Amino acid sequence: MDLYEYQARNVFAAHGVPVLPGSVAATPEEARAAAEKIGGQVVVKAQVKTGGRGKAGGVKLADTPDEAREKAEAILGMDIKGHITRKVLVAQASDIAEEYYFSFLLDRANRSFLCIASAEGGVEIEQVAKEKPEAVAKIPIDPLSGVDLAKAREIAAAANYPEAIRDAAAEVIVKLWETFVAEDATLVEVNPMVRDPQDRIIALDGKVTLDDNAAFRQPGHAELVDVQAEDPLEAKAKAKGLNYVKLDGQVGIIGNGAGLVMSTLDVVAYAGEKHGGVKPANFLDIGGGASADVMAAGLEVILSDPDVKSVFVNVFGGITACDAVANGIVQAFKLLEERGETIDKPLVVRLDGNNADEGRRILDEAKLPGVQRVDTMDEAADKAAELANAGV
Ligand code: GDP
Ligand code: MN
Repeated sequence: MDLYEYQARNVFAAHGVPVLPGSVAATPEEARAAAEKIGGQVVVKAQVKTGGRGKAGGVKLADTPDEAREKAEAILGMDIKGHITRKVLVAQASDIAEEYYFSFLLDRANRSFLCIASAEGGVEIEQVAKEKPEAVAKIPIDPLSGVDLAKAREIAAAANYPEAIRDAAAEVIVKLWETFVAEDATLVEVNPMVRDPQDRIIALDGKVTLDDNAAFRQPGHAELVDVQAEDPLEAKAKAKGLNYVKLDGQVGIIGNGAGLVMSTLDVVAYAGEKHGGVKPANFLDIGGGASADVMAAGLEVILSDPDVKSVFVNVFGGITACDAVANGIVQAFKLLEERGETIDKPLVVRLDGNNADEGRRILDEAKLPGVQRVDTMDEAADKAAELANAGV
């Protein structure tokens, strides 16, 4: 999960990383009040999860509270690279002597952590790396020894931060490392890390990515999720504990096991080439135990996607045998019917593996409306694609 700048700023503050006072505002009036409380010059910044806000006009200085209100009015609603601005951060403006770049990140390729730092900050680091690669220091971080003050000084020197502020920067770097570890982050980026005229170091802009796999031991992270910005179907699926990803095609897919669902996406995409180019509409893994409740939840999520024209339920019975899955589908239909949900899209069901015969018999006997049984994966995919194409 990526955090908004104001959230990253709060996380930084909680770990002693120096940031300037500020607060988030959703209306121009709130921005005015925030500026009044801070006093003096402020900066009004669009809160969107993308970089380059400054260039896009999403970062503006304001000298008075009234001006902050005007700037907020201009920035709220602004579309920055496809992200609509719903909030602004109003923060005390900083005097900037120099801007540096700093980040800690997960280095998957080397199964380690990496620090990227440069005395040339403010602009996009990719640009600096391209034009002046020697100015960008890349320092591997041993996950076990981490970053103490000595390591932080080594980093500050490698980044070529000026001597005068190296110690101050090193102290901030240690706190950024503490933030990275304590929050289970995969990225902590500060661009710019600012040197002010008094030689203080301030994190002026922050980008933090949290590792969702650590959610179980980070209960506080749940409240950082921006429910409003989430895809409503993905949010619904998440609330039901389903592993669901929305895609942009027309064939809804339900399978048991991530591997099977992945290959189902492939065969549906392949079959779709013969049927008007229809594609998978989603990834939905209902996991090993396909109970009626889980099947109903899965069908409910998929059927409420208006892009879906047909559904392919692809199940390979293992520990949970096909008869249990078939009963799950039958119960799911009953559950949805009781809830007044109409199932008006065709379903293709393929059952194979453990106890397939019994599963198929249960399904045939139930005579569920719009449900067809096809016993091989390729033929079922072909049928689902054909039906989706007919329904488009
Ligand atoms: P980004 O463009 O999305 O990376 O947004 P930043 O928060 O990094 O801001 C972009 C640029 O605006 C910075 O590199 C600074 O040059 C400038 N800026 C941001 N905040 C302040 C501030 O408080 N005072 C001044 N003078 N400039 C600022
Ligand atoms: Mn920035």
